Amino acid sequence: MNIHEYQAKELFEKFGVPSPNGMVASTAEEAVAAANAIGGNDLVIKAQVHAGGRGKGTFTNGFKGGVHFPKTPAEAGDLASKMLGQTLVTHQTGEAGRLVSKVMIAEAADISRELYLAILLDRETSQPVIVASTEGGMDIEEVAEKTPEKLVRQFVHPLAGLQPYEVRKLAGALELSGDQAKQFSKLIKNLYKLFIDCDCDMVEINPLVVTPTGDVLALDAKFGFDDNALYRHPEIVAMRDTSEEDPREVEASTFDLNYIGLDGNIACLVNGAGLAMATMDIIKHFGGDPANFLDVGGGATKEQVSAAFKIILSDPKVEGILVNIFGGIMQCDIIAEGILAAAAELELNIPLVVRLEGTNVALGKKLIAESDLAVIGADNLNDAAKKIVAAVKG
Ligand code: ADP
Ligand code: MG
Repeated sequence: MNIHEYQAKELFEKFGVPSPNGMVASTAEEAVAAANAIGGNDLVIKAQVHAGGRGKGTFTNGFKGGVHFPKTPAEAGDLASKMLGQTLVTHQTGEAGRLVSKVMIAEAADISRELYLAILLDRETSQPVIVASTEGGMDIEEVAEKTPEKLVRQFVHPLAGLQPYEVRKLAGALELSGDQAKQFSKLIKNLYKLFIDCDCDMVEINPLVVTPTGDVLALDAKFGFDDNALYRHPEIVAMRDTSEEDPREVEASTFDLNYIGLDGNIACLVNGAGLAMATMDIIKHFGGDPANFLDVGGGATKEQVSAAFKIILSDPKVEGILVNIFGGIMQCDIIAEGILAAAAELELNIPLVVRLEGTNVALGKKLIAESDLAVIGADNLNDAAKKIVAAVKG
C-alpha cells in the first residue's frame, strides 16, 4: 500500500523527521486558505498522486509540471485550479497518468544541496538497506543508470538495528559534517525507526536537502507498506486512497484474493501462487498474454471464487478465461460452484477453458457438465494454455 506525500508528512512529524510545513487542499479556495495559513511568499504547490517524477510531469491538458512555486496565495489558488481534476502523466504513471484530486501547499525551502535517501527491503540479503546519494533531485533513475557508483548502500542488520558507525558512514558519503551530520544522524535514526515501526517496504526521500542555513530537511516523500502487516496498523490503513489503485485490485482485496491486474487479454483463475505464475508463463509460451495474476488461495469459499470470476468478467480487456485448478486443500467442486454462481449473474460470452485436477475433480467436472455453461475442457496445463490462446485468437 502507498500513501500521499501530505500523509507521509504526518508520519514524518510523528517520528521526528524534519520537513517543511504543509497543508492539503482539494479545491482552489482551500489552496488559497492553506497558502494564507502557511504564510510567507515562498510557497510550493504539488500535485498529490501515488507516483514520483511530478516536477517533470505534464498534465494531459498541456499544463506543464506537477510542482510549482507560487509567490502569493492568489497564485497558489490559480495553480491549484489548473491541477485539480486534471490528469498528470509522469515517467512513473504510465501513459494513462493519474487524476489529481488533491494538492499540497507547503513552505518552499532554500536549497544548497539536493541529496537522495531511501530505505528499502533488500530481498537478496533479507535485510533493510539504506541507499544514499549526493546526487539527489529529480533524476535519480539516471544516476543509477549512468553513475551507479554515486549511489551508496548501507545494509542494516534487522536484529542489531542501525548502528552509529553506519550512520557516520552515510553522513560521510553524503558529505555532511559538523552540525549537518548531527542533524542527519537524528533524521536517519528516526526515519529508520519509522520504517521498522510502520512495517514499510520502502521510504524514499528525494530530495533530502541542505539549506543555506545548514538545516537538513525532507522535501519529498514516497512510502510503501507491506500489505501483509497492515492489520497491525489501522491508522495507516485509514490513509489508503483506493482511487489511486487499480479498481480490479481494490475489489479483489475486499474478498482477500491475491490479484494483480496486467495488460493482456487472457484472464487466469488459479489456486496457489506458484501455479498462477506457471500458468501465466505457459500462456506466454503459447503466444498469449495474461490479463491478470489471480491466486484464489487454498481455502477459498464459493463466494470468493464467484467474486474472483466476476472481477475477471467485468474487465473489458478480457477476451478469454483459463481456469487452472490443482485441488489439494482447495476442492474442485467449490471452484465449479463459484464459477456457476458468477455465470448465473453475469453473461459469459467469451471462451472459457477449464482444467480441473485433484480433490473432488469428478464432482467438479460433473457440476460443470450438467450446467449449460459453454466450457472447453482441458486435460493438462499445456493443453489448456494452447486451447485458450487458440480460442482468443480465433
Ligand atoms: P517529484 O519527485 O515527484 O518530482 P518533488 O517533491 O521531489 O516531486 O519536487 C520536485 C522538485 O521540486 C524537488 O526536487 C525540489 O527541487 C523542488 N521542491 C519540492 N518541494 C520543495 C520545497 N518544499 N521547497 C523547495 N523546493 C521544493
Ligand atoms: Mg522527488
